[in-house]
Amino acid sequence: MLGPVILAASRSDRMRRLISAAPVTKQVVDRFIPGETVADIVPIIKDLTARGLELTMDVVGEDITTPEQATAARDAYLALIDHLKDLGLGERVEMSVKLSMFGQALEGGHELALANVRPVVEAAAAIGTTVTLDAEDHTTLDSMFAIHEDLRKDFPQTGCVIQAYLFRTEADARRLAASGSRVRLVKGAYKEPAEVAYQQKHEIDKAYVRILRTLMEGEGYPMVGSHDPRLIAIAQELAHKAGRKLDEYEFQMLYGIRGEEHLRLAAEGHRMRVYTAYGTDWYGYFMRRLAEKPANLRFFLRSMVSK
Ligand code: FAD
Repeated sequence: MLGPVILAASRSDRMRRLISAAPVTKQVVDRFIPGETVADIVPIIKDLTARGLELTMDVVGEDITTPEQATAARDAYLALIDHLKDLGLGERVEMSVKLSMFGQALEGGHELALANVRPVVEAAAAIGTTVTLDAEDHTTLDSMFAIHEDLRKDFPQTGCVIQAYLFRTEADARRLAASGSRVRLVKGAYKEPAEVAYQQKHEIDKAYVRILRTLMEGEGYPMVGSHDPRLIAIAQELAHKAGRKLDEYEFQMLYGIRGEEHLRLAAEGHRMRVYTAYGTDWYGYFMRRLAEKPANLRFFLRSMVSK
């Protein structure tokens, strides 16, 4: 029951101010968002790649309110890509972007987001890597898929995310699988109404398996975004049945969650990509991590009380 309450709080400015100002918040945030600047994050990128992991980088931020913030988001990604080029790690590290951080919700937002994200996709391609468009709440998805399709005309490697909890996703998966796209499948992290999304965990898990089968049997490159041990085992089985080799799909998990599992899958020869978020505008990302696991919230509240 706590999850939906935390997700509602993730959209509240008042809660944002309260939680961001709490002195202990930072220590708990660090588990999921291990840095605020490129200088903080470079040692982590070096460490994870040295352990045989691949990364996808998220400069945290979403729901910006001015075009200047959208330009700043673009520039933050471009600066990161410059660093990756200097480190020679371009091929091991891709980018994940939220279009709401690139201006999607502003007036003329679809065009603005496309204009801001395109240079990031170009710069990523120039160092041998790619960009995946994260999936946000369901009202943003038609625009996200249209931008994805547009970008793929010049950069076919551009990926996108689909969410198993949405009723629409089985049809989206069939379309994307037939077009040969890179697709990350996740359960879904937003508060969605019953008119558009499954609400029960067992229904979401069943949909995840149906959609994963479509992706594995299709022409694209499936990216299995989950920490759920059962779904990971099913993904391995479906990949095997579809005749996919180990480099024809990958697993993805979030930094700070089930770290031993990242290393175990990499050691088994899987491509394992760690979604690594950094930056100062961490509130929305952090709150979704609390909502996914009530124990995280209990830990957070206990640290506040014990200080
Ligand atoms: P769950 O059943 O939630 O979790 C399985 C197990 O994983 C839990 O029992 C627990 O042990 C562990 N676990 C899961 N979450 C946490 C946590 N927060 N803290 C501690 N332990 C945890 N969602 C979107 O809506 N859009 C996106 O673009 C998006 N991108 C993502 C990218 C990646 C690489 C990943 C892994 C997830 C992404 N998500 C995204 C989030 C996703 O939708 C889920 O909310 C999240 O992954 C939890 O679901 P799960 O599949 O891990 O299964």
